[in-house]
Amino acid sequence: MEDTRYKLMTPGPTRVAENVRMARSLACTNPDLDIEFYDFYKETCELISSLLHTRNETLILGGEGILGLEAACAGLTEPGDRVLVIDNGLYGNGFKDFVSLYGGVPVLYTADYHETIDVGKLEAYLAADHDFKYATLVHCDTPSGMLNDIGRICPLLKKYGILTVVDSVSAMFGEYVNVDEFQIDFLCGGSQKVVSAPAGLTFVTVSPDAKSAMHARKTPIASFYANITIFDDYYEKKWFPYTMPISDIYGLRTAFDNIQAEPDIVGRHAAVASHVREVLSEAGYTFYQNSGFSNTVTVINVPEGFTTEDILNTCKDNYNIMLAGSFGALAGTVIRIGHMGENARLVYVDEVLDILCGLLNNNRH
Ligand SMILES: *Cc1c(COP(=O)(O)O)cnc(C)c1O
Repeated sequence: MEDTRYKLMTPGPTRVAENVRMARSLACTNPDLDIEFYDFYKETCELISSLLHTRNETLILGGEGILGLEAACAGLTEPGDRVLVIDNGLYGNGFKDFVSLYGGVPVLYTADYHETIDVGKLEAYLAADHDFKYATLVHCDTPSGMLNDIGRICPLLKKYGILTVVDSVSAMFGEYVNVDEFQIDFLCGGSQKVVSAPAGLTFVTVSPDAKSAMHARKTPIASFYANITIFDDYYEKKWFPYTMPISDIYGLRTAFDNIQAEPDIVGRHAAVASHVREVLSEAGYTFYQNSGFSNTVTVINVPEGFTTEDILNTCKDNYNIMLAGSFGALAGTVIRIGHMGENARLVYVDEVLDILCGLLNNNRH
């Protein structure tokens, strides 16, 4: 069947491969009672862990990416805990709200939103103050396309005994993630970004240190749905805390099978992203950031003589392609091109690049 809907070139949700859509239409069993589904769930979780280079346990949660972020803060925050919130983007900043919600004291480490986190400066800051239970960090801060070097930052935090919470929802598999080497205690991922399954699922990969911290709490976790310790021993007990969204998980499994079948998926993203940046800068576009270019999303400044709406509407109305603007302080000033997962293919990005280059050329003549 020909798909006449918008061609998604947004930084999530992304296009969904046909085999993923088909997997979602498989006949369903009762996921609470069918023992085989517990095996399927556990094997899918183990596949995700292995693709992230760790034996830490992964759990798939029935909820959007945001649920994973909230689950990290719900589980690790006790009233009064100081939490370092590393902030050089909108998602980075947003962690402070989850920390406060669960009674913690967020301490913002705010840096220039146009630059990737300077590890040397963070190191100097930590040398003076490192009394934090955990720190939050965003791998790719999607609204600005800002990539942070989690492979250097997390080990630095761990050196001071600070647990590491990383939101890699829009980066993992488009950027290299090695949970063990990077020392990530609580890693958050989502179905609808590079993984290229429809929106609806989050998955979290949790270290023994993070689990110990959750179990050593003096106060109970102030949530049921965002409390991942309720999954303890689910496999042995054959008991899920809530009915698993089985069709979503069938689709997710196929999406991860696709990722496993492509050993150089990170290389594909790097090649496509550098092509996008090269063509756009040659055409005269400028980028939002000065450093920290993500390989999953490119963020360009809206050129003089245009509005965000002009560009987004031209793409939608004339070419049936959906790009994205941004939000917060970036609203109305940038355009975002998602080249993550199924979107990260030259045939798709070239179509967008032709349109964008044409817009600038026509405007000049
Ligand atoms: C998409 C995304 C999320 C999840 O947000 P949803 O609204 O649940 O899709 C979290 N963090 C980042 C950096 C994201 O890009």
